[in-house]
Amino acid sequence: MQLPVVIIGSGFAGYQVAREFRQLDSQTPVIIVTADNGDDYSKPLISHGFSRRLSADAMIQKRCDELAEELAITILPNTRITAIDVQNKAISYGDATITYRDLVLATGAEAAIPPVCSDSAAQILTLNSLEEYRHASDCIADKQRILVIGTGLVGTEIALDLSLAGKDVRLVGMTEKLMGHLLPDFISKELKQRFQTSGCQVITGQTVVELTQSNSELRVTLSDGRVIETDAVIAATGLQPRTVLAQAAGLRINRGICVDAGLQTSKPHIYALGDGAEINGTLLPYLQPIALSAKALAKTLAGNRTNVVLPVMPVIIKTPVMPIQLSGETSGAHLSWLVEQTDNGMIAKAYVHDEKMVGYVVTDKQIAQGFSLLAQLRAAA
Ligand SMILES: Cc1cc2nc3c(=O)[nH]c(=O)nc-3n(C[C@H](O)[C@H](O)[C@H](O)COP(=O)(O)OP(=O)(O)OC[C@H]3O[C@@H](n4cnc5c(N)ncnc54)[C@H](O)[C@@H]3O)c2cc1C
Repeated sequence: MQLPVVIIGSGFAGYQVAREFRQLDSQTPVIIVTADNGDDYSKPLISHGFSRRLSADAMIQKRCDELAEELAITILPNTRITAIDVQNKAISYGDATITYRDLVLATGAEAAIPPVCSDSAAQILTLNSLEEYRHASDCIADKQRILVIGTGLVGTEIALDLSLAGKDVRLVGMTEKLMGHLLPDFISKELKQRFQTSGCQVITGQTVVELTQSNSELRVTLSDGRVIETDAVIAATGLQPRTVLAQAAGLRINRGICVDAGLQTSKPHIYALGDGAEINGTLLPYLQPIALSAKALAKTLAGNRTNVVLPVMPVIIKTPVMPIQLSGETSGAHLSWLVEQTDNGMIAKAYVHDEKMVGYVVTDKQIAQGFSLLAQLRAAA
């Protein structure tokens, strides 16, 4: 009997490996085991879900059974793997075990919940999966005041989207800048200005220290003592790679499941990719690195060991009041900027010692310039 390639997880990473592998090998059995219902959806669409009034079902691109048939694979939905037996090359759930030829961990990450003093922490909503979006949509459908915690990429996109959906939104962040880790000061300030103009209130330099419930209302206390009354709280305060399963099996863990450039973990025949994997020390929770990882891993699984090569990649920020594309080094005091401000937006190029361009940010209609700047960055890399 031919042993299967087994993939744990049916997010973008898991399904992308299965798709790529099937293009190279139509015979080896493939089994995907997933804790969720296995429907394939576009997670980035969550950032536009509220303003476009999309139900969770409307985000489904393909149902689990359709995908199983299309790729000629077996999918076990609603099945949480509880142990990996590295010695015997098997995984288990309940009383059942599945023996694998090769195992792929595509188990993603959990949305981190900020450490808030609260007897109501369970009230904090998150948006890192379709089910979380479904739950949050139901919870806020008849609510008007929403407080979003986290001024990183996802929190900023979600806050604006809720505001465009007609909600009264407050966006609270620990640092003084919106997306401070990605944007230079002058663009971050402009973005904050446009948020305020569009009706989304931004409160920076504050943490949420306490959350209490009184009747149907939530009371949020900020670090400066201010109390905000709101109807719902959404946290977008980062991700924690899911490592428990891998750690219990003795795989090397740092922030994520450690893999080398071939996406191999510290144990033979076990690979990892996606939001849960740390590739040579780096977490890359974005679609493009996952797509490139899946392509390389599929070749390895098909018998041709291949390292993943990650070029300089663009980041697209989905904030309709100020669309932004950037790449390379774009934040930090060591950069000097050449900025062209036009009626159609900004073109900002980052330099170190005025020598070579190391990054860029383009906004509004000038995002069309991003592709040639990306090509220049790649050529210089
Ligand atoms: C709101 C939002 C907007 C985004 N926008 C963008 C964007 O514009 N561009 C971009 O590049 N990226 C974006 N991202 C990031 C991108 O969507 C993620 O990097 C990607 O979807 C992660 O896929 P994944 O398969 O690694 O993880 P996940 O989607 O989290 O999938 C993990 C899977 O593992 C399963 N699982 C976990 N543990 C077990 C277990 N023990 N047993 C069985 N199954 C298990 C889960 O059920 C799930 O199926 C966005 C993310 C969010 C939240």
